[in-house]
Amino acid sequence: MEKDLADLHSIGSEGQVGPVNSLKMPRFAGLTTFARLPRIDQVPSYDVAVVGVPFDSGVSYRPGARFGPNAIREASRLLRPYDPANETSPFHTQQVVDAGDIGCNPFNIQEALKTIEEEMTDLNSGGKKVLTLGGDHTIALPILRSLKAQYGPVSVLHFDSHLDTWDTYFGEACTHGTPFRRASEENLILKGSSLHIGTRGSIYDKSDLDDDARLGFGIISARDIPELGVKEVVRQIRERVGDTPLYISIDIDVLDPAFAPGTGTPEAGGLSSRELLAILRGINNLNTIGADIVEVAPVYDHAEITSIAASHLAYEIISGWSRVSKDRSNT
Ligand code: MN
Ligand code: MN
Repeated sequence: MEKDLADLHSIGSEGQVGPVNSLKMPRFAGLTTFARLPRIDQVPSYDVAVVGVPFDSGVSYRPGARFGPNAIREASRLLRPYDPANETSPFHTQQVVDAGDIGCNPFNIQEALKTIEEEMTDLNSGGKKVLTLGGDHTIALPILRSLKAQYGPVSVLHFDSHLDTWDTYFGEACTHGTPFRRASEENLILKGSSLHIGTRGSIYDKSDLDDDARLGFGIISARDIPELGVKEVVRQIRERVGDTPLYISIDIDVLDPAFAPGTGTPEAGGLSSRELLAILRGINNLNTIGADIVEVAPVYDHAEITSIAASHLAYEIISGWSRVSKDRSNT
């Protein structure tokens, strides 16, 4: 039988149920949820839901991102309740829950996209924030569809080594290389304030870049980042995004393969974990309404390098959300 939550979990100042207390249950023991947080059905309401979408039927190269959500959850056992970088307790100042996985059809992409959109709409209704753990990048499209009813078109800050604005693969319009072209065509994104960060590597043709600009994206490439430095990257992002509702989509392959080997389409010359964490920290008081971390494929990982990085990126985003709510309550 389940013990009373307060016996095992830490409790926030307004009754938020935090992670399992590691002095009562060692952090390597017990059932796995993201950061050892309560499940969605264990608390009356939530501010932030972490949900898995174990779907990888849209990949063009190595498969395996369907195993991403649980690998990230397992690696997140090491996340502790206080974040000194942001001076906040992200799990005690807002109610964060693990909403489990969206079970979608692995044999039918269109049906899977429909399921994801519907379940995502339930989770993010009423301004609740959802952090999605993929899954391959195809899933960004139904998430953006689900956000449109509530926010209208949103800015997309897309961290990826790839543009993901290609048209089709083998005639298929919805794949992990095409979500942001579809999103632009469907007017789900704000053209002119969306941005790719960290793109690099070879592409099919120079015209890919022209298409991408026409679809509404700017680019800060991986080559630009050491030249500009993190502070200037942050400044440029803030300038472009402004106060618009912002969706952050992180393809883990934006990190260099040294920092994220466990992914389907690795490209040399990427960001370090430290750079990406610093960029996210620099923009954490923008109007971010949702986020995803996709393309973690644990079978190519070593020593949980990739899933640990992903769990820390998730923590940084959730921590930023808690800091913003704290700032707002102080004003
Ligand atoms: Mn990619
Ligand atoms: Mn991608």
